[in-house]
Amino acid sequence: DEEPSSAQESVAVSVRSLSKVFGSGASAFRALDDVSVEIRQNEFFTLLGPSGCGKTTLLRLIAGFEQPSSGEILLDGEDLSARPPYQRPVNTVFQNYALFPHMTVTENISFGLEMLGRPKDEIKSVTAEMLRLVRLEAMADRRITQISGGQQQRVALARALAPKPKVLLLDEPLSALDLQLRKDMQLELKRLQTDTGITFVFVTHDQDEALTMSDRIAVMNGGEILQIGSPRDIYDKPQHRFVAGFIGEINLLPAVSMGEGEHSIAGVGLLRSDDVTALPNGAAATLAVRPERITLSKPSTASLPGVISNVVYHGTDTIFHFRLADGLEMRARSQNNTAQSRSFAKGDDIGWSVDASSVSVLADDP
Ligand code: ATP
Repeated sequence: DEEPSSAQESVAVSVRSLSKVFGSGASAFRALDDVSVEIRQNEFFTLLGPSGCGKTTLLRLIAGFEQPSSGEILLDGEDLSARPPYQRPVNTVFQNYALFPHMTVTENISFGLEMLGRPKDEIKSVTAEMLRLVRLEAMADRRITQISGGQQQRVALARALAPKPKVLLLDEPLSALDLQLRKDMQLELKRLQTDTGITFVFVTHDQDEALTMSDRIAVMNGGEILQIGSPRDIYDKPQHRFVAGFIGEINLLPAVSMGEGEHSIAGVGLLRSDDVTALPNGAAATLAVRPERITLSKPSTASLPGVISNVVYHGTDTIFHFRLADGLEMRARSQNNTAQSRSFAKGDDIGWSVDASSVSVLADDP
């Protein structure tokens, strides 16, 4: 709801009706289909989706490594189509880092600045600044082969940040790291983005990574963006089946709209949702409920009936599987320090309820 002028100012990358078709004729493949998105200045923006959904293609189009089949990309309001990759104020960090193994950390970081013909003094001071930024001062004179994978990742980041691009594109940069290092680097990347104020466009297929680091996430599938929102929006208010299923665990319940937020689940009962949709009475709807939002109780008129079919202990929490009269399997999750986590066993008749604010009504996928 911002003023048009200020909204314009705060957009770093504007992608408009972008499509990319690889090949031609019968073998043509539409990797991106009419994608539009505005990435804001100083934002950590993530493209999230399964393998083959078009994330890397979108990144490569922004970088200029590929040309769009149609549509346009604007950076700070300027159409980029005539600019080759090296003339775009954009830099990329690749999955495999692409460092020079025979050079030192310092030489790797300063390489790009030298290619750009920056003055010697500047190269020296910026390289020192970058070494500090990624906390590698002590490794400055080591060769790439003499540092760890996590340290190599930092060098790759420092090298990409050194020319101070307006936008940094990151293509699954953490995927080669083991889990603990990856978690550390997630926080580190977020810190780097905040400290430098550079717009980050980050590609991943890892939903946890996306939720942890992003200001906003675009969820992609089949060459399209299905939903754009904050991590909280995407998790709590999924608008598509695909988005709901791809991010975290969720229960999907086929239902029929009864109007005014009331939905009937055949053979089970009524479930309310605050998600006010324009569905007419009698229309089929899919309700989505996160397992941690379900409250289990003894059977009662205030709850819907179910039978516990399995109890799975997970250390920090317990997952209760329960079956509805129509055969549907549901899951409820409770933390192991709560009374609910100890109260139910396989075969128990239970009641379950969920607040109307935690029930989403999903659109069918395009
Ligand atoms: P991943 O996580 O596996 O890298 P992605 O979401 O990044 O997946 P893209 O690399 O963007 O996916 O690829 C999208 C689709 O376009 C894939 O089906 C891929 O096979 C196809 N594709 C990508 N590049 C080309 C190309 N140069 N020629 C033909 N098809 C391509």
